[in-house]
Amino acid sequence: MNTDDLPFTKKEIELVIETFPTPFHIYDEKSIRDNARRLKKAFSILPGFKEFFAVKALPNPFILKVLKEEGFGTDCSSFPELVLSEKVGIVGEDIMFTSNDTPLEEFKKAKQLGAIINLDDFSHIDYVDKSIGLPSLLCFRYNPGPERSGNVIIGDPKEAKYGMTKNQLIEAYSICKKKGVKRFGLHTMIISNELHEDYFIETALMLFKLVKEINEKTGVKIEFVNLGGGIGIPYKPTEKPVSYEKIAQGIKKAYTDIIEKNRVMPLKIFMECGRVITGPYGYLITTVRHVKHTYKEFIGCDACMANLMRPAMYGAYHHITILGKEKNKKTKTVDVTGSLCENNDKFAINRKLPDINIGDILVIHKTGAHGHSMGFNYNGKLRSAELLLRTNKEIIPIRRAETPEDYVSTLDFVALKKFNV
Ligand SMILES: *Cc1c(COP(=O)(O)O)cnc(C)c1O
Repeated sequence: MNTDDLPFTKKEIELVIETFPTPFHIYDEKSIRDNARRLKKAFSILPGFKEFFAVKALPNPFILKVLKEEGFGTDCSSFPELVLSEKVGIVGEDIMFTSNDTPLEEFKKAKQLGAIINLDDFSHIDYVDKSIGLPSLLCFRYNPGPERSGNVIIGDPKEAKYGMTKNQLIEAYSICKKKGVKRFGLHTMIISNELHEDYFIETALMLFKLVKEINEKTGVKIEFVNLGGGIGIPYKPTEKPVSYEKIAQGIKKAYTDIIEKNRVMPLKIFMECGRVITGPYGYLITTVRHVKHTYKEFIGCDACMANLMRPAMYGAYHHITILGKEKNKKTKTVDVTGSLCENNDKFAINRKLPDINIGDILVIHKTGAHGHSMGFNYNGKLRSAELLLRTNKEIIPIRRAETPEDYVSTLDFVALKKFNV
């Protein structure tokens, strides 16, 4: 796909802006569904395959409803995410609850919903057992430590706060089996935004060997492995999307070699991807408000890093298209900025773009994961609306924009009046 290709026209966006002023994120339902189907089809060669969408990537219930219809569950990590999942009717073992440093109320809520609870730490066994009792199905998160290397976003496994060591893990299965837990899963998540297929195959291989070892050492038969998320997307025009087929076939081979050969089947394969499911199919639409020339050339937009933090946080590249100027020569080198009082509030630095005028509409690509959801209110910035481009081309709001009233809604102005200083 040409990186400037869009599922909507300039005219359609101009019409939308009359009702929903910029900035806003817009998601492309048809592409999300097509992608979900491609993923499911590729991975259907694996026994009991299921994808649990990592809600944190795009926590909007309209999107969750679409993904539910495509047969996905949810991967939740907080109370509000569990509530969102419940609101769209994704409950029971269609929820994977993978949290860390977890408060008791969240374990309680997860247990009440019948979610698959994935314990991040050995000490959480006692914490849950003594308070609400252990569920009959439990999963544990493994951290391979120095055995594996991570990547830039997630870091080195042995430095990571997540998961248990192998010894702790083996002990965890032993103890929980004695405590009467009947069914078990195994989980890991050690990579983020990874474009190399081999990484996911190696992770599966590592977990399959572990399933065998756990079985030998504890007699526990693992029912499923959850390979985590972390499949990357090509943000840069020079990068290529991963092949789902290649990953699935590699995992299938590892399954035959380890799981079937050692007769530790049946073993179901789960994944909890977020980014690759919705990331490429979201766009942040913003209007150019000011053009400024000093030592550099600055394009000031009505969106800021509160609407998309990735460039400021990771130096991430997001492709930018100027609507109606897709074919123009890229003659200018500019910084595309927002209005936040932080100098890293830039969507692009030294980007080559066509000549830009005030009022031009910019499309910032691939904001469908960790875009709106990473939003914040620092500097009094408000989170934008979210729109959905339906399969029938209708465009509907799926979240309104925040207002200044929202910003002050947690403050008590009556108490303020009485507050004497
Ligand atoms: C963030 C996260 C995911 C999803 O990661 P993606 O990179 O969006 O695929 C899955 N599992 C856990 C535990 C996570 O924290």
